[in-house]
Amino acid sequence: MINLLSDTVTKPTPDMLQSMMAANVGDDVFREDPTINALEEKCAALFGKEAGLFCPSGTMTNQIALKVHTRPLDEVICDEMSHIFQYEVGGYAFNSGIGINLIRTPYGILDAGQVEAAVRPRFDWLPKSTLVVIENTCNRGGGGVYTLDAIRQIQEVCRKNKLALHLDGARIFNALHVSGDTPRDIGGTVDSISICLSKGLGAPVGSVLIGDQDFIAEARRVRKVMGGGMRQAGYLAAAGIYALDHHVERLKEDHTHARQLAAALDALPFVSNIRPVQTNIVIFDLLPPATPAHFLEFLEHNQVKASAFGPQTIRLVTHLDVDSEMIGKAIEVFGRYSPPSKSQP
Ligand SMILES: *Cc1c(COP(=O)(O)O)cnc(C)c1O
Repeated sequence: MINLLSDTVTKPTPDMLQSMMAANVGDDVFREDPTINALEEKCAALFGKEAGLFCPSGTMTNQIALKVHTRPLDEVICDEMSHIFQYEVGGYAFNSGIGINLIRTPYGILDAGQVEAAVRPRFDWLPKSTLVVIENTCNRGGGGVYTLDAIRQIQEVCRKNKLALHLDGARIFNALHVSGDTPRDIGGTVDSISICLSKGLGAPVGSVLIGDQDFIAEARRVRKVMGGGMRQAGYLAAAGIYALDHHVERLKEDHTHARQLAAALDALPFVSNIRPVQTNIVIFDLLPPATPAHFLEFLEHNQVKASAFGPQTIRLVTHLDVDSEMIGKAIEVFGRYSPPSKSQP
């Protein structure tokens, strides 16, 4: 099976498993897991932040960030396509009691002018703008990347209006490969970052939230109330450390594979509106009479998995467990697809 559903489907490599098995562990609720401590310090240092917090998922790291950066009745400004709005079960309202102010963009990349226009004036009858969340890369936008300059301009708007800035960096290492910026460059522009280890980096579980000492101290309390205080989870943190040491550089290959898929799709008559491919995500529309259900069933029969991403939209994601040969095979399968005839129900 060539699984292009998501970059979360990867399984630990034998070497990663080896490093997990060898991990030195302890009870992390007492801060006694040396491997978790090392992972948190490693992530924080990489981005030039003071502290880190290992969590079971990127949803939890984002939700904790929302909770710590806001008070009930505040409002978060973000793109309509952002993960915190689309895929976290409305947790911003449930966990933090805050509202959300959505900005519409073509590919999920905000500009400072839009952010500034979304900041509420201070009146008793309005929600209070206190936080901006940017997503780099933006999943639903097709894996698009922010320039450092664009983030700095947003940072300036936040500074001027006393807003916190959180980066949903589930795929931040994909973004850094394309922008050429260093983790420290990015770390210097935002107050907090959520980093996923279980996406392109190929770890089985885990995300790390980073920020300054006070922020992470409070985040640790919120993680506990959310049920995310784990014990000997250093076995999982070891996978994250291994991934940071061995799986960052290779993300380039995933980007090459995504471009190859997009180029092949571009030549097919039933494909339209391929979103600009910058990283490891390819999003495109099917032209009727082709439908996602029909297309995905054909793929499945031919050992390729992908996902529907809208009424006429398909998403493909490349990752560690898809090699060049599999990309060639997937392209060959796409080329053999023919849409149903119009008369068919
Ligand atoms: C995957 C993802 C997350 C977190 O997802 P989990 O499955 O909860 O780890 C957050 N933001 C973005 C943009 C993502 O793609």
